[in-house]
Amino acid sequence: MTQIEAARIGIITKEMEEAAKGEEASPEYIRQMIAEGKAVIPNNRNRKARLVAIGKGLRTKVNASIGTSSDIIDASAEVEKALAAEGAGADTLMELSVGGDLDSIRKEVLSATSLSVGSVPLYQAFKEAIERYHDPNKLTEELLFDVLERQCADGISFMAVHCGINRLTIERLNRQGYRYGGLVSRGGSYMVGWMIKNNRENPLYERFDRVVEILKKYDCVLSLGNGLRAGAVHDSLDRAQVQELLINCELANIGQEMGCQMMCEGPGHLPLDDIEANVKLQKRMSGDAPFYVLGPLTTDLAAGYDHISAAIGAAEAARYGADLICYVTPAEHLALPNKDDVVEGVRAARVAAHVGDMVKLGRKGRDMAMSKARRDLKWDEQYSLGLFGERASEIRATRAPEDSDTCTMCGSFCALDNVNVHFRESLKAGGKA
Ligand code: SF4
Repeated sequence: MTQIEAARIGIITKEMEEAAKGEEASPEYIRQMIAEGKAVIPNNRNRKARLVAIGKGLRTKVNASIGTSSDIIDASAEVEKALAAEGAGADTLMELSVGGDLDSIRKEVLSATSLSVGSVPLYQAFKEAIERYHDPNKLTEELLFDVLERQCADGISFMAVHCGINRLTIERLNRQGYRYGGLVSRGGSYMVGWMIKNNRENPLYERFDRVVEILKKYDCVLSLGNGLRAGAVHDSLDRAQVQELLINCELANIGQEMGCQMMCEGPGHLPLDDIEANVKLQKRMSGDAPFYVLGPLTTDLAAGYDHISAAIGAAEAARYGADLICYVTPAEHLALPNKDDVVEGVRAARVAAHVGDMVKLGRKGRDMAMSKARRDLKWDEQYSLGLFGERASEIRATRAPEDSDTCTMCGSFCALDNVNVHFRESLKAGGKA
């Protein structure tokens, strides 16, 4: 029985209980959200992972993606990045290797990390088609479904599958006739090429029931991939992307009916003023299925600092209801991220998730406690309340002040130390903390 099947008949599973531990929500609330298709728990019967629930009323989660490229193939570096992402506070991991022995790299990463791990099976399917037939367009349906099964059997907990690219989506793209940023999804672009070359419907759409049955067998979450996502802010919410989103929302509901946990993927690149519409469109059309956004990047000009451009978009997306945000690293658009890039990316996304949750979930208590600790110059309390206490403490220690109450930013001119003492005393006298 999958999580959604159990939830629908009133069963609180041990997975729901475990996921509730990291939330200000009860296992019963999580059960109810899963039953209604508004939350998921990335899970796999074949692998024990640290479980989180993703969805309505729950803390916004952060995903870190790692994986080899065709140029840089080093499995041990990917394992190091996976561990760095986990250490920096990622909630889930995607293993997106396209270079080297993919089965072996996936197994190494799965055994190293305790996080739930996701994948994009089209990468491996097209890579194996190239290796076997020297042509990605010779990918067979059997090979494609075999890859899905193989990755699930290894312990993948959520899978981005590009089911929503169908003939209608491609027709819409053709009629539109332009795209500033082209197609930026690796799996999506290969699938579009395969469909045009073979003049065939996408097997992942045509045989959606088969996709669902494979993932259900392992209680894996089916994340409907955003193959036509905007890769440039000027393509945001174009007709081709909205067409795919519409199909994905429809498929999300069909998959839920079939007893599979479902999630939709979103963009990509979005200007700040399109984010609210995008999130609301997905939520409305899918009946509040969990929404997984990739960034979104809010400008195309920030290469080198794209983790910041994406964190701005992620905070806005989370505020309006996005449930899982994929980090972006400083290496985005430039190179395969290294371990330091991964850590920076996770940290930036965690700030964004928290900022979004302050509004989405009204979680402002920790910030209020931090304000008081700052006002009262209680440094240890600040370190324990902050998202990155260790880093904060390190920075202050590298430039230690003469007066240990203050910091070297203002030193003896410390406003809090000099003036607020009196202010604080008068507040206390007035009975306020
Ligand atoms: S020295 Fe300046 S920056 Fe540092 S705690 Fe005091 S007021 Fe804040």
